[in-house]
Amino acid sequence: MAGGKNAWTVLGIPAGSPPEMVRAQYLRLVRVNHPDRFAADPVERARHEELMKDITWAYQEIVQGRADVKVSPPPRGPAAPPRYTRTTVNPRDLQCRRHGRWAVGYCTACNTPLCSRCDEALTGYCDAHRPWGGF
Ligand SMILES: [Zn+2]
Ligand SMILES: [Zn+2]
Repeated sequence: MAGGKNAWTVLGIPAGSPPEMVRAQYLRLVRVNHPDRFAADPVERARHEELMKDITWAYQEIVQGRADVKVSPPPRGPAAPPRYTRTTVNPRDLQCRRHGRWAVGYCTACNTPLCSRCDEALTGYCDAHRPWGGF
């Protein structure tokens, strides 16, 4: 993909970072760039919608093992090539099922994707598992 974007650069993490780091960084970027945070400003909102597309693209490239990991070679010594478990990302896992919006986190109990609307207080629990009940 000549002249194309590099998925690692888009996520802002070193090429070959471990999957947990990729996921953590992805969730952080989603939280920071969520278009709903810019609802009052159409220009910013559109800009962040584009950003979200890039971020999701990059995340999927990496998780599905398509991202080039030879961009920044380790400083010295032959390192073992990073290994990835090929997992298929279901776009539904990245979106809340109730509102169809980007997930900002997952329920700690059942791993259901939670958007900023289902988990306004960022408790990390879905309605069913929030210890003190729903709103
Ligand atoms: Zn739950
Ligand atoms: Zn939701």
